[in-house]
Formats: sequence, structure tokens, C-alpha cells
Amino acid sequence: MVNKNKSRKAFREAQKYIPGGVSSPVRSFKSVGGGPLFIDRGVGAYLYDIDGNKYQDFCMSWGALILGHAYQQVVRAVRDAIEKGTSFGAPTKLETTLAKLIIDSIPSIEKIRFVNSGTEAVMSAIRLARAYTGKNKIIKFDGCYHGHVDNLLVSAGSGVAELNSSSSAGVPEEFINKTISVPFNDEEFLENIIKKNPGEIAALIVEPVPANMGVILPKEGFLDFVRSITKKNNVLLIFDEVITGFRLGSSGAQGYFGILPDLTCLGKIIGGGFPVGAFGGKKEIMNLLAPEGEVYQAGTLSGNPIAMTAGITTLRILLKDNFYFELNQKTKKFIDSLTEIFEGDDIHINSVGSMYTIFFSNGPINDYKDVQKCNFKKFEEFYNFLLNEGIYLSPSQFETNFVSGVHIIEELENMIKRIKKK
Ligand SMILES: *Cc1c(COP(=O)(O)O)cnc(C)c1O
Repeated sequence: MVNKNKSRKAFREAQKYIPGGVSSPVRSFKSVGGGPLFIDRGVGAYLYDIDGNKYQDFCMSWGALILGHAYQQVVRAVRDAIEKGTSFGAPTKLETTLAKLIIDSIPSIEKIRFVNSGTEAVMSAIRLARAYTGKNKIIKFDGCYHGHVDNLLVSAGSGVAELNSSSSAGVPEEFINKTISVPFNDEEFLENIIKKNPGEIAALIVEPVPANMGVILPKEGFLDFVRSITKKNNVLLIFDEVITGFRLGSSGAQGYFGILPDLTCLGKIIGGGFPVGAFGGKKEIMNLLAPEGEVYQAGTLSGNPIAMTAGITTLRILLKDNFYFELNQKTKKFIDSLTEIFEGDDIHINSVGSMYTIFFSNGPINDYKDVQKCNFKKFEEFYNFLLNEGIYLSPSQFETNFVSGVHIIEELENMIKRIKKK
């Protein structure tokens, strides 16, 4: 057993001052037991906890760190930027530079605004969609998570999936009665809901590859169906690409599947490890934002120069020739080996690009209902076995694991060997 004494002590201390001892719920390890590791530092593909243990990291700050920890080029750029001041509350050219990089990469984005988190991006995109369409209702999918926005905490996955009620306490009924949650991958259900609410639905928001109930793959043609039915009914289509943006490829899930949404939310990777979110889309919609238009949206630290610098440096590396090709090939090889090892076990791996989830299930996993039927006890055992072997996965069956550009094949094979031991 690895020694976790210092982490245990730090957790007890944190719990005295911080609710649950953490700044975000899933970090508490509640669903896998044993308490969280407190981290001292990250180097490349590895995490080091305060007890001095070393772990191969597949959580990677929930997918934000596609270049691994403390990538030297990013660290140097950020260091230089800090010397020039950390926030001005005034524009810098950095925002335009990052905006251009994103707009040139993501096909449906013509204009973009930066915020500080994915939650903020989603919240603002919804407000904009309501203003643009003059309608109020929103459709989302069961198990998709779009940040802790009040009116989207309905059947939300991720950390919320383990709360007793599907939404959160403290969210008034009135806030969620304009939100309709429907099962993912179910065309008929969606069609009926749209029919039953004629002229009332402002937007449909979706994670094009849901990753907050573990990785779920859209069935062949499902996203095309979603695009065409929303267009037909004047419903804006919002892709929440906070995870998939610059993860599945340089053009996100929309490039990967060849589908253009009206609005896109981004976060995680585009901040290069710093707190950033963004939302963007067609000019005619984005121009409704203040100060140009009437939709208010603002932020003291939005477009922060340090975060912009980390984002710019990261994206420039990602946009080099073979980055995604190599990352996705490497992951595919790894997943193929994993699948082979688990042959005959009640285990199902969903994977696309450099994202994967190992589900403890005897059947395929296509929606939230399927995930809820997984064997959580087995997941917990497996999780703790791997942790003891120095492998750190995202600590819940409802989460996604990520391979980064700095994981090397030998490290991935190392994980395979360790699992074989079991
Ligand atoms: C992480 C995430 C969010 C929320 O982003 P925060 O930066 O945590 O507020 C929203 N949508 C999706 C799909 C996410 O994965």
C-alpha cells in the first residue's frame, strides 16, 4: 500500500475550513473512497503527492492539460508574461491573438468572447441564445454536464451524478422549469419534445461527445439529426466543447463530425492550465453582446493576459503538423491493448481521440441510464488497485480519462502490465 499519511492529514485539516475539504466536489474521492491525494507538483505525465508518491496521471486536470504538467514552453511564456503585470482591466493584443487562433481552427466560430470558466461560457451562451431567438426554453441531455449553471443542473452528470436528486438544492423550481432534459442518442424522444413545445425552444445544448458521464459516443447520424431538427425548428444548436474543443482535433468535435453548431462553448484546453472559458459563434448572434448589443456579459479578469498567454502558447503547439494524429494513434494502440486484456470481463471501454472511460458493465454504454447501471463497487476496487500501482485515473465512474501529448508509449504499456498483474 502506498503511504498516504500526509495527504490524509492535509485532508482532515482542509475539511475544517473548506466544505468537504475541496474546491470542487469530485476531487474529494467520495465515489472511490480513501480520500484525495494532495498534490505537490506535476511533471509531464506524472503527479507527485505530498507523501512523495509518483503517479502516472490520466485525469490531467480534467482534460485541461493536453500537453501534460508544466510544459516548459508554456511555463516560460507565462513567466515572461507575469513580469509585465498580471491584469490590467483593459484590452491587450493577446486576446485578439487567441481569438484569431481559435476562429481559424473552429469552423463555426466567427466571433468569440473570453470568460473565466466553462460554467460562465455556458451561462452566457444560453442568455445570448434566448435573446437572439426571443424564446425561453432550453433542451439538454440526461447526464450531460454544462457547469454549475442554475438552470442546467437538471439530470447533470459528473460530480452532480452522485447527489441524491438529479438537480441541486438551492435551485428554485422556477429556474429549471424552462429546462427539458432528454435521453442522449434517442432521436424519437427528442423529436417528440420539440413537437410538444412549438415556438418555445430557444436552444439545444449538447456535449457532442458527452464526457461527464464517462465517454459516450453519439450513435451514427445522431448529431446530424440534432443539427437538422434544430435548424428546422429555429432552435439554436449550442455545442458545449469545453472538453472536446482542441481535444478531438484542432477543429473540435464539430470538425471531427463535420457538423456546424450556431454557438460553441470552450474552456479547459484553451486556457493552457489557467482558468479560461470562451463562447463564440455566428457574427449576427455574437454582435448582440454588450457593448455592441443588449445582452449584458462582463468579467473583471476576463481575457486575463497570463491565461491568454498560456492558451496561445498551448494552441500553437497543438496546431503543429502531427500533434493530434500522433496523440490519437498512441491512444488507439493503448485502448486496443486494454480492450484485449479485459476480453471476457464485464468491462466496456468507450473511447474516441485521446479520451476514454473504462465502464464496469456487461453491455454497451450509450446513455446515462446505461452508466447508472454500472458496477460501482467493482470500479472502486479497480480504481484503488491502480492507485496503489501508481496510476491516477479520474476518480469516478462518471468521469473521463485523458491521454496527453507527453504520455509515452512505454508509460502506457506500463499501465497495461500493472493491470495484467491483477
Ligand atoms: C468542465 C466542463 C464545464 C464547466 O467548466 P468549468 O471551467 O469547470 O466551469 C462545462 N461543460 C463541460 C462539457 C465541461 O466538461
